[in-house]
Amino acid sequence: MSHARSPKVALAPDLRELDERAVRAWTEPMAVTPLGGGVYRVDTHEDHSYSVDVPGQRCTCPDHRYRGAQCKHLRRVAIEITQERVPAPGKREADCAVCGRESFVPETADPPLCDDCRLEPDDVVRDWETGDRLVVTRVVPERADEYVIESVGTTVADYETNEGYPADDPVVEVTYLGDAAQRDEPRTYAFPYSRLDHGEDAALID
Ligand SMILES: [Zn+2]
Ligand SMILES: [Zn+2]
Repeated sequence: MSHARSPKVALAPDLRELDERAVRAWTEPMAVTPLGGGVYRVDTHEDHSYSVDVPGQRCTCPDHRYRGAQCKHLRRVAIEITQERVPAPGKREADCAVCGRESFVPETADPPLCDDCRLEPDDVVRDWETGDRLVVTRVVPERADEYVIESVGTTVADYETNEGYPADDPVVEVTYLGDAAQRDEPRTYAFPYSRLDHGEDAALID
C-alpha cells in the first residue's frame, strides 16, 4: 500500500507581504453565512454584520461604501469560497441524494448529487442486471417509489426487475445505446440510480 504525499505548497499566505485589509481578512475571527444569489452575511468579531454581494463586488460596510475599498469582508468571503468553507455563488450545500455526503451542488440541482455521484446527459452507463449500455438523458427529482412507469402502471421501485434496489433511489431516465444510434427519438426508460454502473469501465464495450 502506498501513502499519498501531500503537494508541496504553503498553507497560508505570507502575512508580511500582504496589505492590512488582507491580513485582517485572514486573521480576524469572522463567520460567513451564504444567503443565496451570491450574497453572504459576514459577522465580525466586533459584532457587526455586513452583507457581501460577490458577483457585484459590494459590501455594506463603511470602508467599502465610503472609501470604495476592497474591504476585509469581501476578501474574507473570497477566501472562504476558495477554501470551500462556504459554497461559491450559484451553489448551495446539500446532502447527496445517493451517498448522503454533504457537498456543494448547483443551486438549482434537483436531486442534489455530489461530484462522485453526478450523472450528466449523454453519460454512458451499464445496467448491472443485463450488462446493456445505456445513455443518460437526465436524473429526475422523483424517487424510485414515486416515479410511475406509465406503460406498466407501477413505480420504478415496484417494477419486478428492480427488486432489491433502494426505494428512495433517484430515478435516471436513459435510452439504450443501440436505439440512440439508430432512431431520431429513441424510447426513454426509467431506472433506479443504483442499478446503473457508472464506473470508469462502464462505457467501454467489452
Ligand atoms: Zn466590508
Ligand atoms: Zn454522492
